Amino acid sequence: MTTHPSPRHHPFWTDVARLVQIETRAFIDGDYVPAADGRTFACINPATGAVLGAVAACSIQDVDRAAAAARRSFESGRWSRCDPAVRRRTLIRLADLIEEHRDTLAILETLDTGKLIRDSATLDIPGSADVFRFFGEACDKLLDEAVPVGTGALATITREPVGVVGAVVPWNFPLKMAAWKCAPALAAGNSVILKPAEQSPLTALYLAGLAAEAGIPRGVFNVLPGFGPDAGAPIGLHPDIDCVGFTGSTEVGKLFLGYAGRSNMKRVWLECGGKSAFIVFPDARDLKAAAQAAAAGIFFNQGEICSATSRLFVHEDIRADFTALLLEAARAYMPGDPLDLASGMGAMVSAEQTQRVLSYIETGKSEANLLCGGGRVLAESGGSFIAPTIFADVDPRAVIATEEIFGPVLSIIPFRNEAEVVSLANASIYGLGASVWTSCLDRAVRLSRALHVGSVSVNAVDHVDLRTPFGGVKQSGNGRDLSLHAFEKYLDLKTTWISIGEAAA
Ligand code: NAD
Repeated sequence: MTTHPSPRHHPFWTDVARLVQIETRAFIDGDYVPAADGRTFACINPATGAVLGAVAACSIQDVDRAAAAARRSFESGRWSRCDPAVRRRTLIRLADLIEEHRDTLAILETLDTGKLIRDSATLDIPGSADVFRFFGEACDKLLDEAVPVGTGALATITREPVGVVGAVVPWNFPLKMAAWKCAPALAAGNSVILKPAEQSPLTALYLAGLAAEAGIPRGVFNVLPGFGPDAGAPIGLHPDIDCVGFTGSTEVGKLFLGYAGRSNMKRVWLECGGKSAFIVFPDARDLKAAAQAAAAGIFFNQGEICSATSRLFVHEDIRADFTALLLEAARAYMPGDPLDLASGMGAMVSAEQTQRVLSYIETGKSEANLLCGGGRVLAESGGSFIAPTIFADVDPRAVIATEEIFGPVLSIIPFRNEAEVVSLANASIYGLGASVWTSCLDRAVRLSRALHVGSVSVNAVDHVDLRTPFGGVKQSGNGRDLSLHAFEKYLDLKTTWISIGEAAA
C-alpha cells in the first residue's frame, strides 16, 4: 500500500461547510429547546478533531417531556386518525424538503461522522428522502380485511397505530437509519421520539425542523440527542412508550429487551450487529468483479456497516489469484479528507471507535497474516483514519473472524467444498447477510437456502432496496426495516365482530 495524498478540499463543499448553521438543541413538542437540566456535550468532527458545537444532552426529564407531548398528539388524533392521504402528502413534502436541503444535510452528515461527502450527497441524503417518499406513498394504500364468517356476523381485521414509538439509532448512517425507523412509524399514524447516536446528532436535529415545515403536527415528531444510558435507557424503560425500533449493537439490543421486560412489555424491534460472509467459488464468472465487490463489501463507509462482509471465504483453488485481485481492488479505498472527492475512505466516526478497531488489528497480527494496512494513517490531520486492512490464513475461530469489528478489517478464510463453507459461514452468533459468487444456478439456490441469514446476494454484495426487507436472524435482531413489511412493526391488528340480526318480517 502506498502513502496517502494530502487532503484536497472540494471548493463547493468547503464553502457549504463554512456557511452551514448547526442546530444543537433538542426538538420537543414542536420547538427547539435546551435539555431540561441545561447540560450539553461536545459534537466532534472526527476528520479533524475540531468541536462542531455543544449539543443538548437529554436525560430522563426530557424523555418524560417528549413522551407526554407524543402521547397528547397521538390522543388528539390530528395525525393518528387523520385521513391517510394527509399523511401521504405531508411525508412526500418532507421527502421533497430533504432533497431541497441536500447539500446542508450532506455536509452535516460528513462533518459529524467523517464519511465521504460524495456518499453523503449521493447516497445517504437522497436515500433518506426516498424512504420518506416510499412510506408516504404507501400509507393510504394499506387495506384492511373483512373475514368470510357467514351471514350472521361481520368480522373485520383493521390496522391501528401502536401509539408512541421510540426510535433509537446508531451513527454509521445517521439520517438513513432514522428514516428507516421514523418513516414507516409516522406513515402508520404513530407519534415518534427519535434518539440519534451521541456521535452523530446533527442531521436528526435538522430533520426535525424540516418535519415541522412539512406540516407534521406538534408533538408527533420529537428528537432527543444524548447518551445511551441517559436518553436511550429512559426511552426503553418508559411506561408510556408503546414500541421501540432500535438499530445498534447486539449488546445494547439485549438491554432494550430487558428494559421492556422491566417496564411495560413494549414491543422491541431490533436490527443489530453482523459478521457477514462473502463466499467465492472457482466457477464465479468474473473473479475481478468479485474481488472489487469483496473490497466494497468491507471498505465502503470505512467498514462501519452492520452488513459488512467481514469474513471472506475463498475456495482453495483460486486463493492466490483472488487475493492478488483483492489487494489491487483495496487500493481504491485509501483514506483521505472526507471533503475531498478523490478520497477512497473517510474518517472513523470517533477516537473511541478508532481505538477499538486498532485493538482488533493488534489481535489480528497475533492470529493471522497481515497482507495490507494494519494501522492508523493521516495522523497529522488530527483526525481518526485507518488504512484498509486485510488478514489472510485466518482461523475461522479467531477473534477477528468471529467478533464484529465495525471497521475496515477483512479476514480471508480458505475453504475446500460447499458443505464446509456453509457450515463455517453459519457458525456465527450473527445472521444478517451473505454474498455468494458462483455461476452454477443449482449451487446459488442451494446456498441461499442453507445460509441462516436475513438476506443473500448472489453475484452481488449487500443488495439493499426500498422494496425488500432488511434485517437479520439470530443475534442480528428480530425486525425488518424497509419494504411494506416494515409497517407491521408499527401497527396493531384489531379484530371486530358484529352480530347481524335477522331483518324484521
Ligand atoms: P450502540 O448499540 O452503541 O448504540 C446504538 C444506539 O443505542 C445509540 O443511539 C446509543 O446512544 C444507544 N445506546 C447505547 N447504550 C445504551 C444503553 N445502555 N441504553 C440505551 N441506549 C443505549 O451502537 P453504535 O455503536 O451506535 O452502532 C454500531 C452498531 O450498530 C454495530 O453493532 C452495527 O452492526 C449496528 N448496526 C446494525 C444495523 C442493522 O440494520 N442491523 C444497521 C446499522 C448499525
